Amino acid sequence: MVRNFHMARRAPHASVARLNRNVTIAGGGLAGLSLGTALRARGIPVTVLEAGSYPRHRVCGEFISGVTAETLRSLGILDLLADARQHVSLAWHDRGRRFLTDTLPVPAYGISRHRLDARLAGRFREHGGELCTGIRARPEPAEGLVWAAGRRPRTGRWIGLKAHVRIATAMDLEMHSGTNGYCGLAAVEDGWTNVCGLFLIDKTIAARGRDLLPAYLEAGGQERLAAALRAAGWRDGSFSAVAGFELGRQPPFPGLLCVGDAESMIPPFTGNGMSMAFQAAEHAIAPLAAWSQGGCSWENACRTIRARLHQCFRRRLIAAGILHRALFHSGIRETAASLATTGVLPFGKLLPLVR
Ligand SMILES: Cc1cc2nc3c(=O)[nH]c(=O)nc-3n(C[C@H](O)[C@H](O)[C@H](O)COP(=O)(O)OP(=O)(O)OC[C@H]3O[C@@H](n4cnc5c(N)ncnc54)[C@H](O)[C@@H]3O)c2cc1C
Repeated sequence: MVRNFHMARRAPHASVARLNRNVTIAGGGLAGLSLGTALRARGIPVTVLEAGSYPRHRVCGEFISGVTAETLRSLGILDLLADARQHVSLAWHDRGRRFLTDTLPVPAYGISRHRLDARLAGRFREHGGELCTGIRARPEPAEGLVWAAGRRPRTGRWIGLKAHVRIATAMDLEMHSGTNGYCGLAAVEDGWTNVCGLFLIDKTIAARGRDLLPAYLEAGGQERLAAALRAAGWRDGSFSAVAGFELGRQPPFPGLLCVGDAESMIPPFTGNGMSMAFQAAEHAIAPLAAWSQGGCSWENACRTIRARLHQCFRRRLIAAGILHRALFHSGIRETAASLATTGVLPFGKLLPLVR
């Protein structure tokens, strides 16, 4: 009798599970793992295919700004950031000269990708998600396939360089711009400071490996920061570099549903790319759950998600693109620095444009 009762209760669950179609996510970064976790929490079978493994260092400023607690809660990952650094104060320097100090209206999180991605992978598995590492998916459209494989490899002008170093900062976030790019410094865990820069590729720079970071800083007129980096202790294995990408909206893969950097890449100075990956995941939950449960067609789910991403990100991508170009224009940069020194540059008004 008892056995029958259990069977009677379990049978409908089993049949619902069979009805739920599997979502496959290519890319186990922030967008892929947070989306996978949120879908698993709603009973959707999910497989994530990840080319790499965990933990791993990645090129990223590791400064998360602009995502709300509600978004992180809806993804089921808010607690993973509970011990992250809380960043509020910031300063901007141009070639060693500080011209702006301010505070963020809402604290940003500081946590390494080494720690965060591994935690996200663990959370996804805890929820029963299937995570296959060391598998490189191919961008071939298929029902139920979400492409969250990050920045699109293509010829690009940029090089991103990152390391964790023992270096003290006066502010929670220090931005340093030079003639060839910019670099951010912000604390992560265990006393390490993330130093991460985006620079225009310069083929005349002969440095190799981790010497690239100080070499690019020197080439852009940031000798003092370069010297401080050379003198600092570096975390083993933390130096990473990436090149071969373009910022902004990524060329669409026809028929493929893209989220996160695979869909659009906001310039890194905004500190908003990771937040966008989480927000994109949040926008995708309901339409993908509806498709999985047979409530809509795959085409409809994709159309809804693309429309939501467009509406949510369009304005900030345009604004960030304009500001990013201005950062690489010496005249505009110098004018902005003078305005900021006299307190005229409205940092507080510019920030919401890229959120
Ligand atoms: C220099 C630089 C500094 C940055 N600093 C910041 C910052 O301070 N704050 C911020 O918010 N954002 C920052 N960003 C942006 C941020 O890193 C990205 O927006 C964020 O990582 C996007 O998450 P994602 O999940 O879309 O992609 P990713 O985190 O890149 O994840 C994609 C995953 O897909 C995997 N993958 C790739 N190809 C395949 C394949 N074919 N099959 C299977 N798996 C695959 C990759 O291994 C990776 O794990 C920075 C970016 C750069 C370049």
